[in-house]
Amino acid sequence: MNSWASIYLPPIDAKFIFPPLSLRNSASGLVSALAVKDDYRMYVCGITPYDATHLGHAATYLTFDLVNRYLRAMGKTVHFVENVTDIDDPLLERARRDGVNWQDLAGSQIELFRGDMSDLHIIPPSHYVGVVEATPLIVKAIGELETKGAIYEVDEDRYFSVRSDEKFGSLAHLSQSEMLQISAERGGDPTRIGKRDPLDALVWLHQRPNEPGWPSPFGAGRPGWHMECCAIALNYFPIDGKDDYLIDIQGGGSDLIFPHHEIGACQARILGNKEFARIYMHTGMIGFDGEKMSKSLGNLIFLSQLVNDGADPMAVRIALLAEKYSLDRVWQSEKLDSATEFLNRLRLLLSRPEVAPTDPVIRKMIDALAHDLDTPAAFKVIADWCDETEKGSQGGSPGELARAIDLLLGIAI
Ligand code: ZN
Repeated sequence: MNSWASIYLPPIDAKFIFPPLSLRNSASGLVSALAVKDDYRMYVCGITPYDATHLGHAATYLTFDLVNRYLRAMGKTVHFVENVTDIDDPLLERARRDGVNWQDLAGSQIELFRGDMSDLHIIPPSHYVGVVEATPLIVKAIGELETKGAIYEVDEDRYFSVRSDEKFGSLAHLSQSEMLQISAERGGDPTRIGKRDPLDALVWLHQRPNEPGWPSPFGAGRPGWHMECCAIALNYFPIDGKDDYLIDIQGGGSDLIFPHHEIGACQARILGNKEFARIYMHTGMIGFDGEKMSKSLGNLIFLSQLVNDGADPMAVRIALLAEKYSLDRVWQSEKLDSATEFLNRLRLLLSRPEVAPTDPVIRKMIDALAHDLDTPAAFKVIADWCDETEKGSQGGSPGELARAIDLLLGIAI
């Protein structure tokens, strides 16, 4: 599937040293340095296209864009794969509710998403993969899991046995009762009769009346969500037989830790015979009106709405990155106002011929980002530089700082 237009990345002078990038791993709960290598494989879970980009989505994709930018600024190659779940229950339900064709709905929302990602200056994935187009490789992966004894049938549907992987639970570290509760809340079916374990995950849904289906050795149907991402990830990245991990970074919002990433990792470990991701990295939830922003609560704010109302996407970028990515945070229109003010001030000062010294700002910005993407610290450094420039300090290169801010923070000046 086509992604979106590539984003220009300005060069940075070799005098700036990049420390290894440290990131928080949800599996260990620790912030640790990413192993230094020549190339990295990052998989970020994409949207289900029945509503395009709300600010929770935007915050997640912006965070992984910072990872991508930092590694590229180091001179590394980043293989970035993102999926789009272009067939799923919520998509079919929305299409039925609105009396539209599910493919038309998905197509229109994917197009909107591409525009939103371009507006936010997010580097496009090397592979943007739709589940429909990936169904043959997902079917193949289910077949391999079946050969390894990890799949069983319930009334013509197929399930993955989570207990076939001894490391099940090692990502989310939840109790059995917590797992049961969250599974029920997030699309699982723990009470279905015939399952061997209530937490076992659907990998193939036999075709239902008036629903689409694709051919497979298990009968016509469609794949389960956790199976999709793991099969796509194992298929689209270059294989490094010497690496202890199948990929480097598995990313998404913190609501994907369980069951989506937990079970995807189990399936990948069985298929690939090693740990799935070096780092499982998750972003906090964006709240609005006292609740997490979510489709079910109906309290979504869409990027396209803000842009249509006159917001500068770069200001939205600043507003969403001004606080630490891993924390749950609250969206308020005042945050967009102050981000817009900050952006305007920065642009004005960077248009001056004489500005405060810029090398120390760029160095501190790099160091802040290296430490688990400490964007609040990076913005503080830039704000301090603005103060110094306004006081008349001189000796810096506005062009060099503008290019570094663009490259590292994705803010086009
Ligand atoms: Zn996923």
